Amino acid sequence: MEKFARYWRFGGGATLVLLIIVGVWCFGVRTPAYSISVDGNKALVVASKADASQAMAQLPKSEIIKRIGVNRTFADRSDLLAGDEALAILNTALQPKVNGVVISVNGKTVLYMESKEMAQQMLDNLQQEYSTVSDRENLLAVGFAEDVQIVEGSVVAAWVTDRDDAWNIIKLGTVTPQVYTVKEGDSLWSIARAHDMYVTDIVASNGIQEDSILNLGQSIILSKPTPLITVVAQVEGNETVVIPYKTITENDNSVNGIKTKTEGQNGEKFIAYTATLRNGIVENKEIIEEKVVKAAVDKVLVKGRSVQVASRGSGGVSTGKLAWPVSGSISQSYGNGHTGLDIAGPTGSAISAADGGVVTFAGWQGGYGNFVIIRHGNGMVTRYAHCSKLLVKSGQKVSQGQTIGLRGSTGRSTGPHLHFEVMVGGSFRNPINYLR
Ligand SMILES: [Zn+2]
Repeated sequence: MEKFARYWRFGGGATLVLLIIVGVWCFGVRTPAYSISVDGNKALVVASKADASQAMAQLPKSEIIKRIGVNRTFADRSDLLAGDEALAILNTALQPKVNGVVISVNGKTVLYMESKEMAQQMLDNLQQEYSTVSDRENLLAVGFAEDVQIVEGSVVAAWVTDRDDAWNIIKLGTVTPQVYTVKEGDSLWSIARAHDMYVTDIVASNGIQEDSILNLGQSIILSKPTPLITVVAQVEGNETVVIPYKTITENDNSVNGIKTKTEGQNGEKFIAYTATLRNGIVENKEIIEEKVVKAAVDKVLVKGRSVQVASRGSGGVSTGKLAWPVSGSISQSYGNGHTGLDIAGPTGSAISAADGGVVTFAGWQGGYGNFVIIRHGNGMVTRYAHCSKLLVKSGQKVSQGQTIGLRGSTGRSTGPHLHFEVMVGGSFRNPINYLR
């Protein structure tokens, strides 16, 4: 009796605690359940026999007899399935399987394909497509931004996608892209406007260039691409770019009106750069060498007494007409709440002052990113947003055509473009009506 009491005190108490823990575990977390198997492999667990019958209610009797087994078991409460979910899993488990591969991106299954070779070839093609370089560029490295895996295994035959569908899913994020047929008078820009899209998105979805010529009846994919995989390519290259000439003004009271003394001539410079492309789009371009091949020749205007001059000396003189600040395609026009004109093109292109004037702001301004404001002598103000680099300072006088910054995608912007605004008397105007 004394022995038992000691046992109870030292061992029995612990045993009882253990029994309670096991009990709570069995009937709390682990619970009696029914396991449903297909072809001898456990497919799912349900709470009761009634749930099992319900899950199988819509299955053909012959399949149930031949392939399905129901057994008593214990299961985690969190594993128990009911209703539609159970039926969906059973349906899947009953479907014929084939040997195939799963393509996963960052651990998430995105595609099922027939073979490892086919999947690998598609991924190789994707890298190739987005790493083609011009004859003045070298490819330094190419890879995926995501963790992309091909895993072999048994997959549901009906889920295996063919090569074309797989390609669309990976590249565009959809198998059924919206398609538009080119009509007479269409341009990429008009199509983009009509469908509330950016030219850059259409270009990306169709693998064409911004200046591509459209043919009547040509099919254009309108879906904005949401690619599942990002090909990152590092390139080095070089290019020759135009140095736009500056316009300077001299005062000569013996002259009547304005006369051109010297015609301007654009110069040329050689630029070597490295760049990162993400799915073929230049993301950042770094200039590593810059050399003037041919200097620009200033255009010299002589103004006489009768002409209003905004300010003296080189720069600061407005001509009253706006020159295009940068070349490129119009990715969004003015209007419908859009206060400027978007001119899309490569990052790093020189942006020039649309007219002579004084820089009243050059710095960061929220959604505009790197931003320049130029006040011209005639109540007109021009504004330049999303610059990758600013090349002027507030208070500086600039001439028409003088480089003030480089095109970029800073601030609230989806791709490299210049957002160009014209204000007259404090209100926004359509830049198109002023550009010559
Ligand atoms: Zn804009």
